[in-house]
Amino acid sequence: MTKTRSEKLLAFDREHLWHPYTSMTSPLTARHVTGAKGCEIELCGGRKLIDGMSSWWCAIHGYNHPALNGALAGQLGRMSHVMFGGLTHEPAVTLARKLLAIVPEGLNHVFLADSGSVAVEVALKMALQYQLAAGEKKRKRILALRGGYHGDTFGAMSVSDPENGMHHLFAGTLQKQLFVPRPECRFGGGFDPAHLEPLAKMLEENGEEIAALILEPIVQGAGGMWFYHPEYLAGAKALCEERGVLLIADEIATGFGRTGKLFACEWAGVTPDIMCVGKALTGGYMTLSAALTTTRVAHGISQKGGVFMHGPTFMGNPLACAVAGASLDLIAEGSWKTQVASIEKWLREGLEPCRGMEGVKDVRVLGAIGVVETDSPVNVEKLQTFFVEKSVWIRPFANLIYLMPPYIVTEEEVGKLTEAVRESFVGCVRL
Ligand code: PMP
Repeated sequence: MTKTRSEKLLAFDREHLWHPYTSMTSPLTARHVTGAKGCEIELCGGRKLIDGMSSWWCAIHGYNHPALNGALAGQLGRMSHVMFGGLTHEPAVTLARKLLAIVPEGLNHVFLADSGSVAVEVALKMALQYQLAAGEKKRKRILALRGGYHGDTFGAMSVSDPENGMHHLFAGTLQKQLFVPRPECRFGGGFDPAHLEPLAKMLEENGEEIAALILEPIVQGAGGMWFYHPEYLAGAKALCEERGVLLIADEIATGFGRTGKLFACEWAGVTPDIMCVGKALTGGYMTLSAALTTTRVAHGISQKGGVFMHGPTFMGNPLACAVAGASLDLIAEGSWKTQVASIEKWLREGLEPCRGMEGVKDVRVLGAIGVVETDSPVNVEKLQTFFVEKSVWIRPFANLIYLMPPYIVTEEEVGKLTEAVRESFVGCVRL
């Protein structure tokens, strides 16, 4: 029997192409996508899936958006790329202007990078260079929260959760950082100042060696989809200030409205010393990230002829900057706010009934993020096939089945997504 084009493509893919976190000898199934529009992903053969993932937090305005397509096409006719060393251009300057206008007050300088992980590397370097320039030569360590995730490059891995992250694989090579327990104070629950004690103690005992505390504000993403209390964030910022430690907020997943605020730091009214953004920055069109910082940090690094030692080849890529600028224009229109509030309501209505079902440990919803935590790891392959048969795109991991659809999703579509999640608890689909 002759193979179809799609079968050939999939066979080559399986044999030669690595996908995220997969084996080359027994990979998880990858499905052939032929297009995506609005809130739908189309598979070869015509099946359309309602997107519950926004392609990992990115595609907030949906796929194939005319304004984003237009921005990209317009820029393509002018120039796709030029080096950023010694040259600058309208898309980068306009993007920086728009970004600085919406981030927490006090962040005034932008470093454009290629991906979320690289923005984290840049942020860590900024903190270390700042401390060095300030004469704080002992401050070489980074403090992080357990349950955090900051990316897959070496610096980012070193500050991600030491147990569920990749520390065991690279022990001996990874920089040894300091960790405090995951903040157990739930978002929406009560706050007891005792929750800050481990952090206060750590800073008291090791504060003089610590350059910065890095955390994901309010929502810990890939490290466990955990939502914690804003008072913890506010308290952490105050403790850092007392001890001369910089605060790095990794807003790569939370930024641009996902939690119900434009940036999750706003829940606590905090301006971090350094903030990383990525993912939804380009509306999910291209890879681009940024590390933003205050004048104190930027000028501190630059004093006495100092320069910041980073400069990616594709820094400030004009195509990525142009589409990011257009995405920020869509955000400036402001509909994200009511859209995210509606999604929160629909997710709550659709996922709360999971509570009490067999195999469900917890249900939590914040902004346009809905999470069902299971009491044991799910069978991703089996569950993914089940979801595709239900015409929804949901990719669980570990013991988490979660939804974060594009902001343009309709009530009916969220209804189908949450129905599929509920049905996955009937019988043994997830095991
Ligand atoms: N930080 C956080 C909070 C993230 O969620 C991610 C990506 N999942 C990253 C950093 C790394 O971003 P990237 O995959 O673009 O390198």
